[in-house]
Amino acid sequence: MQIYNTLAHKKQQFKSIKKGTVGMYSCGLTVYNYAHIGNTLCYVQTDLIKRVLMHNGYRVRHIMNITDVGHLVGDANLGEDKIRVTAEHEHKSLHEIAKFYTDDFLRDMKRLNLLMPELMPKASKHVPEMLGLIQRLDGKGYLYTIKTGVYFDTSKFQDYGRLMGLSFAELNKYLIAGMRVERASGLKNNTDFAVWRFSTKDQKEMVWETKYGRGFPGWHIECSAMSMKYLGEHFDLHTGGIDHLPIHHTNEIAQSESATGKKFVNFWMHVQHLMVDGKKMSKSLGNVYRLQDLVEKGYSVNSFKYLVLSSHYRNQMNFTFEALKNAENTLDGIYAFIGKVREVTGSERKPNGAFIKRAGKIRSEFFEALDNDINTPLALSKMHLLISEANRAYDKMSKAEADCILDALFDFDSVLGLDFEKQSKRKEVSQEAMALIEKRERLRKEKRYEEADKIRKMLKDEYRIEIEDTSRGVSVHRT
Ligand SMILES: [Zn+2]
Repeated sequence: MQIYNTLAHKKQQFKSIKKGTVGMYSCGLTVYNYAHIGNTLCYVQTDLIKRVLMHNGYRVRHIMNITDVGHLVGDANLGEDKIRVTAEHEHKSLHEIAKFYTDDFLRDMKRLNLLMPELMPKASKHVPEMLGLIQRLDGKGYLYTIKTGVYFDTSKFQDYGRLMGLSFAELNKYLIAGMRVERASGLKNNTDFAVWRFSTKDQKEMVWETKYGRGFPGWHIECSAMSMKYLGEHFDLHTGGIDHLPIHHTNEIAQSESATGKKFVNFWMHVQHLMVDGKKMSKSLGNVYRLQDLVEKGYSVNSFKYLVLSSHYRNQMNFTFEALKNAENTLDGIYAFIGKVREVTGSERKPNGAFIKRAGKIRSEFFEALDNDINTPLALSKMHLLISEANRAYDKMSKAEADCILDALFDFDSVLGLDFEKQSKRKEVSQEAMALIEKRERLRKEKRYEEADKIRKMLKDEYRIEIEDTSRGVSVHRT
């Protein structure tokens, strides 16, 4: 499998340190606000990368942190802690804010059918590990203290700009040009960053008394400490949004490798930004959407996911509602097609060997595209090729061919995660039966259970539909 390794600035053959297992760390959400669809896109693409690795036979140990303290508004050096700002604004405790937005984020992950990471460690629960790392850096002379906190001297780390492909001087210049916040006074270099930040007297929550002073950790040290705790000091793959590249990830490498004297991570993958109507998302433009906004406008979560997957993770995706509508139509077409193929009986027909061979070839090409730096646009075009060829052959299709197509599509879905199996079944239910299911729901809500049960029986006897009431709503099966 080939992937574009940001660290090498080129595509490379992926190879894990330990045979058959991949240690993968992804920077998780800073839980001070709802995840917007740009964040969501990043997590969908990350899930896909993980699933492709799994399809290649790897066991993936995936760790994704939750940043619940220490991430500053300006990302670099000054500014306030994002969560503290929200807590003050909403008159809530930091814990309440973090919990509320973490729960919302987890709900989105579930709705999107993303595979849960093995662990989702919280930064606030790993302060001893961070202090251990700070102590190691201190012992090796990498740190200095100024009024605002304890800082890492980036000039002492060789090759500081390596991930960006820039020299130390170039990266300093680049960051200064893009700096939106004022710099802390007393910094030795513009790129220096706080590993420990001193708190003010009125900051009471998420503040720790330590030998380095009373305060809280810097955002970058959090990811180094948590990733190394769970995956070891040298691990396979680190992912995150492209915005983390110049500062956050560059600093993670600097402090981790300075502390351990070892290479931190072999492969780095970065997911590109999302644009909305060709523009950057911003509050002032009023174009910041969250997944729930799309649901409230009547779109399915899977159609957003399909839209994301139709764009390559290293290309900027342009979100428009027209594109979302098109994605929804395309996906509905796929579900309907699968539903139709499921109805093929034709067992008396002789299987068309040439067609089965051709389907097998397209199936391999789908996965070859994904194995080439997760080329989803090409992989999806292969899937559509299979569907259009199968559609042409539909009238004469034998059961063996139908099974071969379904097998391929469900295999594709093991990496796409678009719910092919369940969603295509839903389409098998006729409108008439759907109306009865809804009527029964209404009756149940009104506690008219006897009438509701009559409809249930009718659905079973006349429509061969079995209904099950679950905590998430009604589940419908064909008998
Ligand atoms: Zn991180």
